[in-house]
Amino acid sequence: MIVRSFTKRGITVRNRCHGHRTEPDADHTAVVFEDGEKLEVETILMSVGRRPLSDGLVAEGTGVEIDERGYVRVDEWMRTGEAGVFAVGDLVATPQLAHVGFAEAILAVKQILGERAFPVDYGKVPWAIYCHPRGCFRGMTEQGAADAGIETVTKRDPFGGNSRARILGETDGS
Ligand SMILES: Cc1cc2nc3c(=O)[nH]c(=O)nc-3n(C[C@H](O)[C@H](O)[C@H](O)COP(=O)(O)OP(=O)(O)OC[C@H]3O[C@@H](n4cnc5c(N)ncnc54)[C@H](O)[C@@H]3O)c2cc1C
Repeated sequence: MIVRSFTKRGITVRNRCHGHRTEPDADHTAVVFEDGEKLEVETILMSVGRRPLSDGLVAEGTGVEIDERGYVRVDEWMRTGEAGVFAVGDLVATPQLAHVGFAEAILAVKQILGERAFPVDYGKVPWAIYCHPRGCFRGMTEQGAADAGIETVTKRDPFGGNSRARILGETDGS
């Protein structure tokens, strides 16, 4: 849907291609792809992942473990290997999203307070992509469900039939 909308606006989308290096000159920059193809561009916007800031965070000799990628190891209750020490949010290897960090913190605090708590169900995390038109997803994909042997019913609701989208004049997408 996003690709179709971009294409309609004259944007070329290339998926699964790797920019190998850039060659800047006074006016332009060229992106050089793995196969040697060069693409002249005005601007390069990098949107890459983040990593946890855990260097030097944990003193030697504690039970808190940090994995090879820098994430603090926790179980489904956000407990580290050290009794009474929890880790949540971007520091642990779960989706690096604010609402995920919140849910994990609530889980940790509830346990500290001795309240009833339930592990976070990461399969239900909502994801949003702030492009135009916006994209979002949650839960299994149709293919993922089929692979898991779950029968699916597919329904598409174009925004053209949505009154708010019509009022805003943004009827692209479904
Ligand atoms: C550009 C950008 C856009 C984002 N957009 C979204 C979005 O649209 N939706 C969404 O859900 N998520 C978004 N995120 C992700 C979201 O911001 C993080 O997942 C969330 O803030 C993680 O919360 P946190 O408490 O784990 O870490 P943080 O919010 O990073 O908080 C950690 C805090 O600890 C402090 N700190 C670090 N080291 C130490 C130390 N040694 N001692 C004391 N304090 C320390 C830091 O200064 C910071 O204040 C975005 C992130 C970025 C960078």
